[in-house]
Amino acid sequence: MASIILNKNNFFNNLDIIAKHTKAKDKIALVLKDNAYGHGVVEMATMAQEYGIKKCIVQTEKEALLIESFFEYILVLADFPSVMSDKIHYTINDLYTIHNFPAGTKVELKVDTGMHRNGVKSDALYTAFARIKEQGLILGAVFTHHRSADELTSEWFWQKENFKKVKTQTRELAEIFGFTPLRFHSCNSAALFRESAFDEDMARVGIAAYGCMDLPAALAVKGLRPVLSLKALKISSRFLKKCERVGYGGTYEITEDCVVSNYNFGYGDGFLRTLSNNYKTQQNIPLIGRISMDNSSFVSEDEELLIFENASYVAAFAGTISYEILTSLKSELKREIV
Ligand SMILES: *Cc1c(COP(=O)(O)O)cnc(C)c1O
Repeated sequence: MASIILNKNNFFNNLDIIAKHTKAKDKIALVLKDNAYGHGVVEMATMAQEYGIKKCIVQTEKEALLIESFFEYILVLADFPSVMSDKIHYTINDLYTIHNFPAGTKVELKVDTGMHRNGVKSDALYTAFARIKEQGLILGAVFTHHRSADELTSEWFWQKENFKKVKTQTRELAEIFGFTPLRFHSCNSAALFRESAFDEDMARVGIAAYGCMDLPAALAVKGLRPVLSLKALKISSRFLKKCERVGYGGTYEITEDCVVSNYNFGYGDGFLRTLSNNYKTQQNIPLIGRISMDNSSFVSEDEELLIFENASYVAAFAGTISYEILTSLKSELKREIV
């Protein structure tokens, strides 16, 4: 099994850049869902705490409980409470689920401003507030999510305008129903960096903190550095002659006599099989043959191989995004902070 190396300097460098945009460390809510984008949730929470991050975001309550002691505020994006915790806040994603939250739960209302994935539509805000009140919930914030902040189109402006109207409407509703002061947030990483004068209560930052944003050149953010790299160890080596073929199905044929080694990392560890015969490390070492469950072959003799230092680089080969490369990495992989 390969191992993951987490670079603390790079993480803190990224948090410095993010904090400049939010204008305060305290406005950063670090997104730690899906095992902190594959990085390891406890490892990232430990470093985030050391840096002074007090807020984080996860998908489920189970994830929240794993890292409860590291933060003052945790927002759960999609789950219902089974425990009572002063730190955990739950998202209302739909009018029809409001009755699932026990009285006294701290909630935040998600509003659908155009993505049409989760959230209450803006014509149902009065009903939402009335039901939240009736259920005895404590509403602390209203938020939304952008569908195209990472694309060079006008959609980001359109959604921002929609959320501006929602803010005006919900500020009035908060007065009526007694939920003041209401907090607001809408920015993921890409949206935060498009904002020249960020003035919301917090930003929900994931991929920028991990240093793997894949953005069009015009939106690129300078100075972010990948936190995660991955190295594998050699299991065995062999000398192969021209025309011998490697791996399941013999899909790769050797073109020149060479040494081929097999490393302890495969699709069972989260290395996408679609990279078979379709990858070179950043040091230009080709992966040959099919990736197996726990093995992959490279034209190399090295005892240790740096499989990648930047998930965005791998994503380009696989025709996917850095998020998928990172979250595919299994939680069982060894993780080391340097
Ligand atoms: C995952 C997620 C984020 C973080 O997005 P990044 O692009 O990684 O910054 C923010 N908000 C919500 C609602 C999310 O689901």
